[in-house]
Amino acid sequence: ATMREERIKKTKTVCTYCGVGCSFDVWTKDREILKIEPQEEAPANGISTCVKGKFGWDFVNSEERLTKPLIREGDEFREAEWEEALYLIEKKFKENRREKGPDSLAFISSSKCTNEESYLMQKLARGVIGTNNIDNCSRYCQSPATMGLWRTVGYGGDSGGIGDIAQAELVISVGSNTAESHPVLATRVKRAQKLHGQKVIVADLRENELAGRADLFVRPAPGSDLVWLSAVTKYIIDQGWDDKAFLRDHVNDVDEYMASLDKYTLEYASDVTGMTKEELIEIATSIHEAKTTSILWAMGITQHGGGSDASTAISNLLLVTGNYMKPGAGAYPLRGHNNVQGASDFGSMPDRFPGYQFVTDDDVRARFEENWGAEIPTEPGLNNHEMVEAIHEGNLEMLYLKGEDMGIVDSNINYVQSAFEKLKFFVVQDIFFSKTCQYADVVLPASPSLEKDGTFVNTERRFQRLYKVMDPLGESKPDWQIIQEIANRMGAGWDYSHPGEIMDEAASLTPLFAGVSYDRLEGYDSLQWPVAEDGTDTPLLFEKEFPLPEGKARLWPVEWTKPLEFEDQYDLHVNNGRILEHFHEGNMTYKSEAITGKTPEVFLEVSPQLAAERKLEDGTKVRLTSPYGSVKVSCIVTDRVFGKQLYLPMNTAGEGAINHLTSSHSDKDTDTPAYKEVSVKMEVLEPK
Ligand code: SF4
Repeated sequence: ATMREERIKKTKTVCTYCGVGCSFDVWTKDREILKIEPQEEAPANGISTCVKGKFGWDFVNSEERLTKPLIREGDEFREAEWEEALYLIEKKFKENRREKGPDSLAFISSSKCTNEESYLMQKLARGVIGTNNIDNCSRYCQSPATMGLWRTVGYGGDSGGIGDIAQAELVISVGSNTAESHPVLATRVKRAQKLHGQKVIVADLRENELAGRADLFVRPAPGSDLVWLSAVTKYIIDQGWDDKAFLRDHVNDVDEYMASLDKYTLEYASDVTGMTKEELIEIATSIHEAKTTSILWAMGITQHGGGSDASTAISNLLLVTGNYMKPGAGAYPLRGHNNVQGASDFGSMPDRFPGYQFVTDDDVRARFEENWGAEIPTEPGLNNHEMVEAIHEGNLEMLYLKGEDMGIVDSNINYVQSAFEKLKFFVVQDIFFSKTCQYADVVLPASPSLEKDGTFVNTERRFQRLYKVMDPLGESKPDWQIIQEIANRMGAGWDYSHPGEIMDEAASLTPLFAGVSYDRLEGYDSLQWPVAEDGTDTPLLFEKEFPLPEGKARLWPVEWTKPLEFEDQYDLHVNNGRILEHFHEGNMTYKSEAITGKTPEVFLEVSPQLAAERKLEDGTKVRLTSPYGSVKVSCIVTDRVFGKQLYLPMNTAGEGAINHLTSSHSDKDTDTPAYKEVSVKMEVLEPK
């Protein structure tokens, strides 16, 4: 081979853009990405990818990448050597811990980083600093789904794999923009519709792409899903269509639950949701007629004051109809970021160690203390939401945040940003100088996925390995190495030389992943948790029993929480979510020319009805104002939205950033922000 050919190599990686977890080979010549080549053997996607996975990688060579640590000086930042930056962090952390105690510090891990990095972040917080103040950004999206599943079936994960969704006779998608947020998964559904006549029902405020192809599309009023889900469940029971054998053998608390359904009549549900009785009956009948039903849901359900309860209602419906414990059936909360599942799986939570073991459990804590040689606090720490409050109250003074643009993606960002201003010391670790970095005292340059080894867990609980494609750019480093250096300066004495060693340690302490190892994840090999010590994994999460008392699931009564109410002047409801081309606040995709060439900015979707009433056209600039702030955006008129519904993609950090409008209101059980409960008034700035 010539020199030129030798420099060309291919490396397997896992996409960082969503929870589907597509894997593929990346062909590179030095730092140049030649092509993305999906492989038949890729477990989640085979030969498919979407536009982000296929083209969205040139950000790794962006001139805007952080390549050296930055230290604040007044209103400016100056470049610094690692030694100086790390010394400063050590000095500040030690001082505060000594003077104010370990709980004056807090740590936030990232659902974009690897499992090994989330594991180390919580080990740093708990085992080295001595605080359980550790969380990750799944608090912003999926914690309510996890809560709903813990309550009812015991494990917070998808019931089966993407293949199960494809083989279901009926798929119901609720509050999920599946085709844009989880494109390859949606492709599997579309193929199943064609190949075996899979029936699809979509419930959403917006006629998203999947809704356009659905057998039935319904538009329940904002935040009312719990009501129609419960009414459908009650109707099924009233018809005698509940799966009595399944309930007898596998479910507890049935009578108490049945009694709680009394008020969810078709009349009541129709009043609250605006759906017709015929629609409710059609959904119930479809579930009754299908041998297998899978329900997919996402942020349209979870990001509400009653997000955990609505998620619970979904699981209740599946239990009543016996749609667990068989291929093609079950609960599928669709995880957003590539490693939302893994960040929580690996213990970046204030109350749980890796594998969802409670920090309050003395035996569990003793096992970690012995292995780590550390004393771990006995009480749960603060979650993200509580951290912001604690900063405002003066009880939290230092924050170490990695891989998250919290100052843009948290709700009510004017409030969050003013909290950052109060911090005594703020360390932000990222690949770009995000909005949040503007508030930092030290900014540390990290490496994106292509520059490191590790593992992710996708939405179907599947562990997959990513291999290092290229060296870190400039002086940037993989997050796990940075965390290790900080820990060692705080006296830890860690000596991990490869993420595989971190995984070995985590697996040895966590029954849920006991048999996970890098050897078993070579190349395209993968494992779905729970993984037994001998390496047997669990494609179908529940086969014989549920991980709850007596091996039985639990029906869990829930009450509807009304969405936040706004004064009359805020007469338009703003729904928000993703668009296909961009990833989250856009820190990566807006640095990709391949992507911005197609979609340079986001637009506010307005309905034809509203356009006629307010004289809006494509391109009209408007200001939206909520009680919490305002944004300026350009309109696009589309019948995807209806009446007084607006849709503002969340994919911008600019003056259209949705979280200028959202409140601090949150799910009452998990503190997940109620991003979907926001109303605004509109002012037309300039017609085109
Ligand atoms: Fe990446 Fe998700 Fe697209 Fe797959 S579907 S290529 S994981 S963004």
